[in-house]
Amino acid sequence: MSSTVWKLSARGRAVAKALLAALCALACVFSLTACGSDKEEGKIRIGIKFDQPGLGFKKSGTYVGFDVDVAKYIAKKLGYSEDDIIWKEAPSKQREAMLQNGDVDMILATYSITDERKKAVSFAGPYFVAGQDLMVRTGETGIKGPQDLNGKRLCSVTGSTSAVTVKERFASQVQLMEQPGYAECATALFSGIVDAVTTDDIILAGLASSARGRLQLVGKPFTQEYYGVGIKKGDKALATKINAALSEMIANGSWQRALEENTRGAHFKPDLKYNPPRPKEGE
Ligand code: GLU
Repeated sequence: MSSTVWKLSARGRAVAKALLAALCALACVFSLTACGSDKEEGKIRIGIKFDQPGLGFKKSGTYVGFDVDVAKYIAKKLGYSEDDIIWKEAPSKQREAMLQNGDVDMILATYSITDERKKAVSFAGPYFVAGQDLMVRTGETGIKGPQDLNGKRLCSVTGSTSAVTVKERFASQVQLMEQPGYAECATALFSGIVDAVTTDDIILAGLASSARGRLQLVGKPFTQEYYGVGIKKGDKALATKINAALSEMIANGSWQRALEENTRGAHFKPDLKYNPPRPKEGE
């Protein structure tokens, strides 16, 4: 008798489950954001780079780098342990859309604060100031700074401020090849398809370091890139909390430690004229 009851309720459960699945599928059709976001109770979704050594790097299922350490610090202050973090890859070109669609709660991905981006998203921070620079093959003598770019082939990333700066300042002199990530640009530089890669100095330092001496930084930065924490547009309360976490991280020495640990061996020195910055954005 009891087994019949069990069988019936099991069948009932199966029907209920199927109905629920169908309803969910229907809900997905009508609400795209609900499906794309895969929001989980008690978790925080953070966008980072997966292919930038020293900043955001996926290494056999773990995530390492300065952006990752800053993100963990903020998450902890917001009440999330490391296990509560869902890391998502946020390529340069997709960052605004990911925040607008609600795919992530915040982005720490070498993401420069700009007025253009602030039309679509908000920022907290800054938590670091980098500068756009050039990277060449070791031994290259013809490129000593942006003044030597005439007739050169450059690689940068679609959706980055680095590519925009090249188009604004050097469009008439250079050929720009755009790739989805800086690792692809480094490969193009190795193989001789381009003469230089351009983006933030701290990113190039990480790539050069992982290229074991085959690539080198030119070391003449020509912009200031204020790295912000990208958040949904207008979320002032979250910006205030993030800025408090960043200020604390800077004041107690954790920021300095994270920066040193993640750039060790990369021959990179942050510009002390701008670093550490004062996190005040977005409040
Ligand atoms: N910081 C620059 C930017 O936000 C270049 C680095 C990147 O593409 O992430 O566009």
